[in-house]
Amino acid sequence: MHQPPLPSLAATDPEIAHLVEGEAQRQFDKLRLIASENYVSQAVLEASSTVLTNKYSEGYVGRRYYEGQQFIDPVETLAVDRAKELFGVEHANVQPYSGSPANLAVYLAFAKPGDTVMGMGLPFGGHLTHGWSVSATGKWFSSVRYGVRADTGRVDMDEVRDLAREHRPKLIFCGGTAIPRTIDYPAFAEIAREVGAVLVADIAHIAGLIAGGAHPSPVGHADVISTTTHKTLRGPRGAMLMSTAEHAKALDKAVFPGLQGGPHNHTTAAIAVALREASAPAFGEYAHTVVANARALAEALVERGFDLVSGGTDNHLILVDLTSKGVAGKPTAKALDEAGIELNYNTVPFDPRKPFDPSGVRLGTAAITTRGLRPEQMPRVAEWIDTVVTATAKGEQGEVLPTVSAEISELLSGYPMPGWA
Ligand SMILES: *Cc1c(COP(=O)(O)O)cnc(C)c1O
Repeated sequence: MHQPPLPSLAATDPEIAHLVEGEAQRQFDKLRLIASENYVSQAVLEASSTVLTNKYSEGYVGRRYYEGQQFIDPVETLAVDRAKELFGVEHANVQPYSGSPANLAVYLAFAKPGDTVMGMGLPFGGHLTHGWSVSATGKWFSSVRYGVRADTGRVDMDEVRDLAREHRPKLIFCGGTAIPRTIDYPAFAEIAREVGAVLVADIAHIAGLIAGGAHPSPVGHADVISTTTHKTLRGPRGAMLMSTAEHAKALDKAVFPGLQGGPHNHTTAAIAVALREASAPAFGEYAHTVVANARALAEALVERGFDLVSGGTDNHLILVDLTSKGVAGKPTAKALDEAGIELNYNTVPFDPRKPFDPSGVRLGTAAITTRGLRPEQMPRVAEWIDTVVTATAKGEQGEVLPTVSAEISELLSGYPMPGWA
């Protein structure tokens, strides 16, 4: 049953209550390997479902357009102060509704439509909002894209430097959604400085690893840091923008009134709670275990003949090229889902297949680490994946999927999940 229980919801709207219960059970039973997902704590769940959702508070602490901010102002102050303390930054804005609007606010703060911007191409692991063609950021700005080297699967810093010198972008984004390796912030900073660009480190995926000391920090290198709060950072769905004091005003004005109206105060409270949790020593241990689990899983997959982009991982994320296994990403992801393993199909660099049916799958260990799984268990996870992939490649799934699914839910029944009891 969902925790806290939902008696009023069940009475008012049994259809929705039923679906929420179903989703909670699903999250309990499945091996959740989607690299951008996690399980928030009971405290974060509670904070995000409070009466704070009733309150309007356009503006910033002490400068609001509505009365009655006696409790909201201190909530937002706590969130901002904790973000500054945790990441060691001079300025933090906790109001962006999510990662994509946070990035849009960065464009609004530092560029004009038609200006040149640079980011990693989506097929190489960049995010839509780093100037990809179907995104507003690619339609309204002239975007230049860098990729990874074909031989190493790693960001090609020579290409980044050459493109930056040639196109002199206003903004350079580093970071992305499918990058299994450490981002070299000092190298990006040197290039940005040389061409006079604002360097934006988008740490959406790795914020929790940075907070927990398991990935180098962009602080001191990037002018602006953008992050979601709901991936490895393990907070509610939301986002933050951080910077030096120099850029504080431009960013704040871009978020409000530039792009948004009232902040989601219940989310702000839950972000504050997540930041408090992330500053505890146990979170550092969590972040390091996320990386250790990813490493162990990557090694076990390589042993089983899987081809990993860049050969392995430095963080929470693994990108598998399934070409050598004779299956595509989409049927594999669907079969794995049926077998109780949830992940997403993903393009791999230089993918010869179409984005809707690409060659790879992406995995992450943030959620299963929260659940309590350890590196010793990763060979078993790799074995399950291998069993399903092999059966799918042969077209001989038979009883494989339900068998694996039953084994997984049996294992996970011993690992509690916040929000379910
Ligand atoms: C997830 C992500 C975003 C967007 O976040 P949403 O909350 O889904 O809008 C932006 N940038 C990167 C690198 C991400 O991984």
